[in-house]
Amino acid sequence: MNYPCLNDIDTLLLDMDGTLLDLRFDNHFWVDHLPVRYGDIHGLKEELATAHVETALREAEGTMNWYCTDHWSRHFDVDIMTLKREVEHLIQFRAGAERFLKALAQHDHLDILIVTDAHPNVLALKQRVTGLLDHVDDHYCSHHFGLPKRDLQFWSALSDQVDFDPETTMMIDDSPAVLAQCKAFGIRHVLCVETPDSGRSHRHDHDFPLIDDLSRLTTGSEQP
Ligand SMILES: [Mg+2]
Repeated sequence: MNYPCLNDIDTLLLDMDGTLLDLRFDNHFWVDHLPVRYGDIHGLKEELATAHVETALREAEGTMNWYCTDHWSRHFDVDIMTLKREVEHLIQFRAGAERFLKALAQHDHLDILIVTDAHPNVLALKQRVTGLLDHVDDHYCSHHFGLPKRDLQFWSALSDQVDFDPETTMMIDDSPAVLAQCKAFGIRHVLCVETPDSGRSHRHDHDFPLIDDLSRLTTGSEQP
């Protein structure tokens, strides 16, 4: 696979969860940790608690509520951020992602933005654990726009705030639904992460070019 040369890119848009950071934390939290803790806190049998959580998550999929920690704190009557901190040791960079971010410092011409559906509270937690924002120029949470990235209008709203030329922009994300909207908006270069969760294998039913180790994009530009 020949990836676009970063010299041909002016704006690099990076997703956070599943792209820079291992989705293992998020999957573990929603699939394993939250059902157990929700059951503990409310005195529910684990099976019942798991069924409640699964149903609620399924119903909210694709909406802004899905990403909103305040919504889930109210819905489950728990403090989602406290529960997330209980498993924060699982928050980590994907293999090669930190090396990639450090190597980007050699590409002065690039405007590097994190564009995430994560709630600002979650971004703050992940920044405290990993320091990922120290490597980028700016960040945007879809929460502030009230639209998820998989909505075409999100990209119009972002382009009202950020000056970027879609022809010389690259977006890297682990969601084909998001990348489809990037393409529809006119963003020329998109890459899809092959293994967002280090603990799961993935099947792909889309045609977007795949990447796993992001540092392949900066090979040769690391500091000695
Ligand atoms: Mg993602």
